[in-house]
Amino acid sequence: MQHFPIFLAVAGRRIVLSGGGAAAISKLRLLLKTEANVTVFAEDPAPEIVAWAEDGRLTLRRRPMEPGDALCAALFYAADEDAAEDARTSAIAHADGALVNVVDDLANSQFITPAIVDRDPVTVAIGTEGAAPVLARRIKADLEERLPASLGRLARVGKAFRRAAEALPMGRARRAFWAEYYDRAGPRAIAEGSEPREALDALIERHLAARAEPGSVAFVGAGPGDPDLMTLRARRVLSDADVVIHDRLVPGPILELARREAVVIEAGKIGFGPSWKQSDIDALILRHAGEGARVVRLKSGDPGIFGRLDEETAACDAAGIAYEVVPGITAASAAAASMGRSLTRRGRNGELRIVTGHDAEGFAERDWRALAAPGAVAAIYMGLRASRFLQGRLLMHGADPATPAAVVENAGRPGERRLPATLATLPHAIEAAGLSGPAVILLGLAPREAVPVRLEAAR
Ligand code: SAH
Repeated sequence: MQHFPIFLAVAGRRIVLSGGGAAAISKLRLLLKTEANVTVFAEDPAPEIVAWAEDGRLTLRRRPMEPGDALCAALFYAADEDAAEDARTSAIAHADGALVNVVDDLANSQFITPAIVDRDPVTVAIGTEGAAPVLARRIKADLEERLPASLGRLARVGKAFRRAAEALPMGRARRAFWAEYYDRAGPRAIAEGSEPREALDALIERHLAARAEPGSVAFVGAGPGDPDLMTLRARRVLSDADVVIHDRLVPGPILELARREAVVIEAGKIGFGPSWKQSDIDALILRHAGEGARVVRLKSGDPGIFGRLDEETAACDAAGIAYEVVPGITAASAAAASMGRSLTRRGRNGELRIVTGHDAEGFAERDWRALAAPGAVAAIYMGLRASRFLQGRLLMHGADPATPAAVVENAGRPGERRLPATLATLPHAIEAAGLSGPAVILLGLAPREAVPVRLEAAR
C-alpha cells in the first residue's frame, strides 16, 4: 500500500485550489461537500465557479497564486491544466506547508483523492493508487446501487441516539441493538414514511425489556463432528442461541446451525498447546448469560466426558444462572460404531473404561491391572502422545502384547480413518500414520474385517 487512506478533519480549515476550468470544477464539486473554507485562485474562472463565489460557498481571487496564498491551508489542489503553472503553484503551496495534489499527476502529488460514495456521514472512499481508475468507478457504481440513499439519514439519526443507546451494556447487547436498527427497524421506518427516531425509541425499549429477562446456559454435546450425529435437541437449542461458545474441535458445519446474528466465540483448549484458562471461559459464559443472553456452551462429543462440565456448571450455580445439559455422542461411541464393534459384550467385558491419556499433571496413572486383564476394553481419549507410556505400563502389568487395539481418527466426521494395531505395535502405528485429526484409541477391540459402510451412502 503506497497510499494510506485516512479521513482528514477539514471543518473550518482552509483548502486552496488553483485553476478555473473543468478540472477545477470537478474537484470543487467534491470539496464543496465538506465544511472546509475553500479558496480558489483563477484569472479566468468558469461561470460555475463565479456562481459558487456569489453564493458565498467559496472565496474567489481573480489572479494567479503568489507565495503565502496557501498559508495555513490543510490541502492544496493544482488544477491549472498546464504543467508549468501546476509546477509553479504547487511549489508555492508546498513552501506554504500545505499537502499538495496535482490533478491527474500521481508522481507530483503528496496525496490522491479517492472515488467517493457519499451517504454523509457514511463515506466510502475507493482508491486503486492510480492503477485502475475504471475499476474504482465500477466499484463506486456498484456501491452506489447497493447502499440505499436513506443510509445517510439513518446514520445521522443513529449518531444522535448514541448517548441513549448507552443504556445498553457495551458489547453484544449494544451491537445487536444497532444491527437491528440498521438492518431492519430503520429501513422499515423510512419505507413506511415514519420517523427513524421513533423506531429507535421503540427498539431500545424492547431491547432493555428483553435484557431484564434472565439469561440461561445450555451445555450442549455437539457429537463427534458430523451435523448428522447431533441430537434434535442440540440442534434446536443451538439454533435459538444468542451466544455460542465452542471448543476447538467443533467444526464449521455444526457452527453454521447457529443463527446468523449469534455471536460465535471459540474458547479452545489445545492439548499441550496454548489454551484458554478455565476461569476465563467461566467468566465469559457468566458475562453473556448475565447480560440476558441465551448461551450455548458447545462441546465436542458429550459435554460430560472430559469436557470440564462440572467446573462450568458450578460457576453457573454460584452465579444463580439456570442451565441445562444436552448429551451428545461421545468419541468412543462414534469410533466403536465406525468399526462395527460393540463396546461391551457378554462374556468378554462387562465393563468399559473411559480413560484419558494425560491429565492436567501429565501422563496419568490408572488401574493398570484392570486394564491389562484379558478381554478388557478401554476407550482412551487424548492418548496419542501417551501411547508409549500406556504400552509400557500395560505390559508391565501383564497385558498380552497381542491384545488388539484400534486407533480411530476423526471418528464420525469427514476424514475418518481406522488403524488396526496390537498393544505391541500401537506406538509405532500411531507414529507411522501421521495423525492430524482428533483420535481415540480403543484398547481390546479390533476393527471388523469387512469394514462397515454407511448403508445410506452405499445406496
Ligand atoms: N467430550 C468429548 C471429548 C473431549 S476430549 C467427547 O465426548 O468425545 C478431546 C479428545 O476426544 C480428543 O483428544 C480425542 O481423543 C477425542 N475425540 C473427540 N472427537 C473425536 C473424534 N471425532 N474422533 C476421534 N476422537 C475424538
